[in-house]
Amino acid sequence: MPIAKGYAATDASKPLVPFTFERREPNADDVVIEIKFSGICHSDIHQARNEWGNSTFPMVPGHEIAGVVTAVGSKVSKYKLGDRVGVGCFVNSCLHCERDLYREQYMPGLVGTYNSVEVDGVTPTQGGYADSIVVQEDYVLSIPDNIPLDKAAPLLCAGITLYSPLSHWKAGPGKKVAVIGMGGLGHMGVKIGAAMGADVTVLSQSLSKKDDGIAFGAKDYYATSDAETFKKLAGSFDLILCTVSAEIDWNAYLNLLKVDGTMVLLGVPENPVPVHAFALIGGRRSLAGSMIGSIKETQEMLDFCGKHNITPEIEIIDIQDVNEAYERVIKSDVRYRFVIDIASLAKD
Ligand code: NAP
Ligand code: ZN
Repeated sequence: MPIAKGYAATDASKPLVPFTFERREPNADDVVIEIKFSGICHSDIHQARNEWGNSTFPMVPGHEIAGVVTAVGSKVSKYKLGDRVGVGCFVNSCLHCERDLYREQYMPGLVGTYNSVEVDGVTPTQGGYADSIVVQEDYVLSIPDNIPLDKAAPLLCAGITLYSPLSHWKAGPGKKVAVIGMGGLGHMGVKIGAAMGADVTVLSQSLSKKDDGIAFGAKDYYATSDAETFKKLAGSFDLILCTVSAEIDWNAYLNLLKVDGTMVLLGVPENPVPVHAFALIGGRRSLAGSMIGSIKETQEMLDFCGKHNITPEIEIIDIQDVNEAYERVIKSDVRYRFVIDIASLAKD
């Protein structure tokens, strides 16, 4: 079994610590990847701290993985040694999902990159805060030449999670889109939405990141702490993408939709979302949700970002600083995604 070195959560209430573990033996259709960079998604924190109640330990988080192919099985046809590749939120799926892999978004039988079990039903999967990973070739993405690996990593979750609903709800010229929360996901929504030609507005807790938002392509930027925002923008948007996981006043945000507008939940609040019927029925509005995206759509997103030169804003950290980075993400003190330089593992 190949040995991997990384960082793991051993318990929901303890900091991540150095951790050595076995990756599975590569099969003929597997690719072995030397991980160079791994993004920190807020979902890593939710799971490392068991905030969704489904965590298993020890857990090596990380589903924004970018690296280089170091070995391929005899049946691998899509990748060769030295290829620059990515891995996102899932590394396999059930047969039913496999049929849908290239067109559907919702994949009930997918095998998560970590905090999940392999298709054998017993082996735990472990994620990208580590020096290598073994992945079936159909679940590996190709990174465009003009996107550096450190900046590619966050596209594998934050990028696709925003690209998918923007594409599905046809963001483009003439469409008014609002993004709630300008964090890791939100700032990608601004960049991708603007590149699609939509008129993007950021709804942030304060105006402290306004200059950044405008530089990323937003037309407008409003503070949700100001009650005037909700009066001024009532009935304004075709599409609202909510990246916040905190409890907010959903009804107030639904009221910002135009007739037939849609608000899409991307963030995952701990409690059920309380919505009043009047917030929806008045304008034939819809409340929807969206989860990452298919492999086909993820490759489409990477190619779109390559073509339009879209990359996330990142702060590179050593893996030894991962626990401090988690605290900073929780305080919204990140511009705009932490990315772990996996080479720093050598410092331990
Ligand atoms: P993040 O970087 O922490 O961004 C979340 C943003 O929400 C913050 O930057 C902040 O933006 C805003 N926010 C934070 N606390 C708030 C509060 N109390 N009230 C109002 N707004 C608040 O996190 P992320 O990595 O983008 O992930 C966001 C959520 O999406 C998480 O719940 C994550 O698990 C989920 N997620 C879902 C999917 C999916 O497939 N649907 C994929 C990945 C992640 P401002 O400072 O601009 O207000
Ligand atoms: Zn994620």
